[in-house]
Amino acid sequence: MAKRHCFILEFVAESVIVIDPQNPTQSADYLIKGGTLVTMDAKRRVIENGAIAIRGAEIVSIGPAVQIAEHIQARQTIDASGCLVIPGLINVHSHLAMTIFRGLVDDQPLEAWLGRIWPLEAAFANVSNVRAGTQLALVEMIRGGVTCAHDMYWQLWDNTRTAVNAGFRLVNGPAFTEIVGPDGVMPENHIPRAQSYIEEFRTNPLVTCCVQVHSTYTTSRQMLENARQISEDYQLLFVTHASESRVEVETIQQRFGKTPIEYLHEVGLLGPRTLLAHCVHLRDDEIQLLKDTSTSVAHCPESNLKLSNGVARLPDLLRAGVNVAIGTDGAATNNDLDMLGEMFTAAMVHKGVWGDPTCPKAEHVFEMATVKAARAIGMQDRLGSLETGKLADIAILDLDAPHLTPLYNVYSHLIYAANKSDVRSVFIHGKPVMLNRELLTLDEEEIKSAVRRVAMRINSGSQG
Ligand SMILES: [Zn+2]
Repeated sequence: MAKRHCFILEFVAESVIVIDPQNPTQSADYLIKGGTLVTMDAKRRVIENGAIAIRGAEIVSIGPAVQIAEHIQARQTIDASGCLVIPGLINVHSHLAMTIFRGLVDDQPLEAWLGRIWPLEAAFANVSNVRAGTQLALVEMIRGGVTCAHDMYWQLWDNTRTAVNAGFRLVNGPAFTEIVGPDGVMPENHIPRAQSYIEEFRTNPLVTCCVQVHSTYTTSRQMLENARQISEDYQLLFVTHASESRVEVETIQQRFGKTPIEYLHEVGLLGPRTLLAHCVHLRDDEIQLLKDTSTSVAHCPESNLKLSNGVARLPDLLRAGVNVAIGTDGAATNNDLDMLGEMFTAAMVHKGVWGDPTCPKAEHVFEMATVKAARAIGMQDRLGSLETGKLADIAILDLDAPHLTPLYNVYSHLIYAANKSDVRSVFIHGKPVMLNRELLTLDEEEIKSAVRRVAMRINSGSQG
């Protein structure tokens, strides 16, 4: 028995498998077997011919398939031979239902784009249209290996329930705004509404609640302070857009004598529970301030490029040690929700703009969509890597494609060569939501038809 215990301890250290010597066979709901596991654990282990056992929502064992198979009795085995098995991608910034406006307002600067989009939202962002748009976003993201996404949009309750019903993991919360939007929320009702939302969803295992404001240029100081108070009371993530365009930075400087970053700091809104989208226009001291306050950044390079907002100083942010994750932004400024594509852009654009092909490296870009993204949303203990005890959010990519042949380096393929059509299966919270490219929780054809009907109404200019 003593010898067996020695073996077990060694086994634990190398393969993170916890075996009870009295009961060497453990049950599991799913066993993902074969394939190359890109764990993103602290050692960044890549396990060839690996296996992952899932019980309930969690990974209960991970390691070489030959060792795992000995001890796991699974209800269902998923053959991942010839595949890459990765942590599900996390899209840390988006406006999901804006899929209904995809391709409607292109080739405009941010201010002109907002001037077109806001009246369209007032007319069309009702519950049924937003639900169709959110469902389409979920279909697109699951097909692209995304298992968790942030959302900031109207019809908050319905969006959240739509994602939960599809088995999708969502970061969502009330967005404080001065205007009365299409969901009719009066500014004076933001605080009780936020409390009500948080009380309803904070124990939902698929929902990470946050508090949001659109931006410093569309929100009063009082409203920012209200959002900060709710974020502090419930210890929730705070999300806003910051320093996205030059016009925004100039506007806030004229109003308050400070940049948006300085202004947010003054209000007490920078910190480890804050996630700022874009951060394109930053001075050196602002980058240092983000680092010193442990504030995270949602880097959205395609949206920034398309709106000509510029290119964020990603290499400087990374060198300073700022936690940077990746987001697609909404489909009306991107125009897709493709995280593999966004990682490719993030890896490429900075090499061209800043003249340094070594930054960012492919592995570091993949961190920005997995472990760093998990940290950005405060879920680093539960998400972002394939490890025993973490939630089973997993994407499986088929390697048997000409553009993925041969394979020398998994990060190289994930960032520079793979695309969303390579994603074969996706698990969220321990449950399959797509197997062998078949969606299990959403009716893609019905959803596309519903969004096409919304587009017909938008095109005809009819209301709702
Ligand atoms: Zn945005």
